[in-house]
Amino acid sequence: MKYVPREIVDEVNVTPVHPLVNFGYLIGTVVAAAVTVYVGLGVAGAQIAARLGPNAENRIGEVIFENVFAGMPLVQDGPELKYVQTLAESLRSDALKQRPDLKLHILEEPLPNAMVAAGGYVFITQGLLDEVESENELAFVLAHELGHYENRDNLRSLGRSLVFLSLNSALATTGVQLPPLLTGSMSLADLHYSRDQEQKADVYAFEMMYERYGHVDHTLDFFKRLNEQELDLGAADQLLEWQSTHPLTESRIEYLEALANKRGWSLEGEATALQKSRQIR
Ligand SMILES: [Zn+2]
Repeated sequence: MKYVPREIVDEVNVTPVHPLVNFGYLIGTVVAAAVTVYVGLGVAGAQIAARLGPNAENRIGEVIFENVFAGMPLVQDGPELKYVQTLAESLRSDALKQRPDLKLHILEEPLPNAMVAAGGYVFITQGLLDEVESENELAFVLAHELGHYENRDNLRSLGRSLVFLSLNSALATTGVQLPPLLTGSMSLADLHYSRDQEQKADVYAFEMMYERYGHVDHTLDFFKRLNEQELDLGAADQLLEWQSTHPLTESRIEYLEALANKRGWSLEGEATALQKSRQIR
């Protein structure tokens, strides 16, 4: 028997859109709600972490150092470590003196990089120390990290990571798994900052370099050389490594130089010699 559909008289309740489109909207709403919760939790975690007192910050820093960094090859002693420690200490602002002491470590790692973790742990790689050609370059890198530290950027990232790691393990007990896209970047050593955070740390460091040397010449030379290496395939990996934590692109250099012009900070001046270990041994 042939099916004859009943004629629809009243079309008020009939939706003119295809059911699949409606389904798409439903999925879209669920995803949007999930993203909102996810972002909200991240913001909450970051806010809590940004309000930690120095004692809590110190303890968290110790735990992370023991679990993440202590197993890495660190330079234990020597004149180079002492020199970098003294230089970093001399860059400590009054605001940073209220926070946990700086604990500077040199990582025996050939790729140039630097980072700061919760509790004042500053890491600089041997590769970076081998690459810098003046104290101005090294001081800028250290001051940039201290900028992240003073602005509590590292604690905010940590708070976010802690919330997601907890959420992930709580969900795991119920059999639910967060998509790898969300969990992939979670780590206690997550040090990816936003463009805005990077720019603030840059300006913080640049201003400090002007106060220290009376000009801002040579402070960006290391990054200018890195950018030139971009064309050189051999150095591509090195650059990639640096950029993964500290994208200091040409536009950021241009921004800082424009800022120097605006504020009347001289872009011309003498370089301060680096106290390289081979010179003091
Ligand atoms: Zn940075």
